[in-house]
Amino acid sequence: MSESWKEDLENLYDTMVEWRRFLHQHPELSYQEKETSTFIYEKLKEFGIDDIKTHVGGFGIVAKIHGAKPGITLALRADFDALPIQEETEVPYKSKVPGVMHACGHDGHTATLLGVARVLQSHRAELSGDVVLIHQPAEEFPPGGARAMIKDGCLEGVDVIFGTHLWSTVPYGTIGYRKGYFMAAADYFKIKIQGRGGHGSAPQLCVDSVVVASQVVNQLQLVVSREVDPTKSAVLTIGKFNSGVAPNVIADTAVLEGTVRTFNEDVRSKIKSEMASIIENVCDAFHAEGALDYRDGYPAVYNHEKESDVFQKVMDEAFGKNVAVEIAPQMGGEDFSSYLIEKPGMFWFSGAGNPEVGASYPHHHPKFNFDERVMLVAGKAFLSLVHEYLALQDSPVLSENLKES
Ligand code: MN
Repeated sequence: MSESWKEDLENLYDTMVEWRRFLHQHPELSYQEKETSTFIYEKLKEFGIDDIKTHVGGFGIVAKIHGAKPGITLALRADFDALPIQEETEVPYKSKVPGVMHACGHDGHTATLLGVARVLQSHRAELSGDVVLIHQPAEEFPPGGARAMIKDGCLEGVDVIFGTHLWSTVPYGTIGYRKGYFMAAADYFKIKIQGRGGHGSAPQLCVDSVVVASQVVNQLQLVVSREVDPTKSAVLTIGKFNSGVAPNVIADTAVLEGTVRTFNEDVRSKIKSEMASIIENVCDAFHAEGALDYRDGYPAVYNHEKESDVFQKVMDEAFGKNVAVEIAPQMGGEDFSSYLIEKPGMFWFSGAGNPEVGASYPHHHPKFNFDERVMLVAGKAFLSLVHEYLALQDSPVLSENLKES
C-alpha cells in the first residue's frame, strides 16, 4: 500500500478513537439508529464527499468516492447497530443509554470505515474507479439491514465487495478468515405439538403431548446423523421443551424450540423438509397435530475463492506473512452473506482480543470490549485492498487471480 495513505490513516487514529468512543456512549438498537446515521452522514459530508445517499434500506448510508480515472467499483461495508445489553464495563466512555450497548464492536467498524473514507477522499486523484462505502444498520436482528440496502440498490454497479468484523476471540495483530464457507446460516424453529389433555390415570382417552414431543425430539436427532452428507456440517439443537401443568395431568400441548446451523444451502433446505416430514408423520402415528414454524436466519457467509486469494496476497504484502491466516469455520451468523450472494468478495475477522486492555470477553457479553488499535489494522487492510484494485497499475496479484473465468 502507498506509504502516504498509511501515514494519513495513522495520523487519523486519535480521531477514529474519539468517533468510536462517542458512538460507544450513544448506542442505538437495530432499526432505530437515526442519530448514528446522522453522525455518519455529517462526517462524510465534512470530508468533502458529495455523492451520499441516506435512508437506504432504513437508516443505511451509501457514499461514493469517484476516482479521477475510470475503472471498477469496489464496495466496503461497516454495520452500525447496537444490542439490548446493559453495559458492565468500567470504561470512561461507557454507554449512556440504559440497557443498550455496542457489545459487538460495530462502533469500531463505523469509526474504521469513516477513517478509510477520509483517507480515500483525499487521495481520489490516484484512483481509477470508484469506492462505495456502505454504512449498514440492523445487522443484529433478522431480516437485517443488508437485504434491505441491497433492495434499495446499494450494490448497483459494484464489481467486488469486502467487509470485516473485529473479533475479540482472535488475538489483536492477527487476521482470520476462511476461503469458501466461513460463517454459518443460523435458523430458528418452534414446534407445537397439540395432543389431548386429560387425567393421568386414563391415557387411553388422551393424546399425551409429552410422549409425542419426546418421540419428535428423538427422531429429529436422526436428521443430521442419517440424512445429511457426513462430509458437510450441520447442527440441530432443541434447547427448549415446555409442557405440562401437574404430575397427574396428561399434557394437552408441548412446545419445542431450537436452532439449525448449516453452511451448505442444499443441506439447509434438506434439514428443513426432513423436519417437516418427521413432525407430521410422528404426530400422525400418535394422533397428535404438529406445527412447525421455521424461520430462516441469515444465509451462510461464503468467501469467494479468487477474492480470498487476492486478500491473502495483499495482506501478506501489507502486514508480512502469517498475519492473515485461515481459521476454522464459525457457527455464528452475519448478514454480510447477502452481499456475497450477489457479488464476488470476502469477509474476514480482524483480531481484537487483548487481555491487557480488558478485551477478553466474547461478543454480546456485557463486559465486551476490543483493542482499539484493531481499527488501524482493519483500516489498513481496507486501504490495501483499494490500492491493489484501484490505484496500482498492472497489479500482478490481480492479473494472476482475476483472469476472466
Ligand atoms: Mn456483529
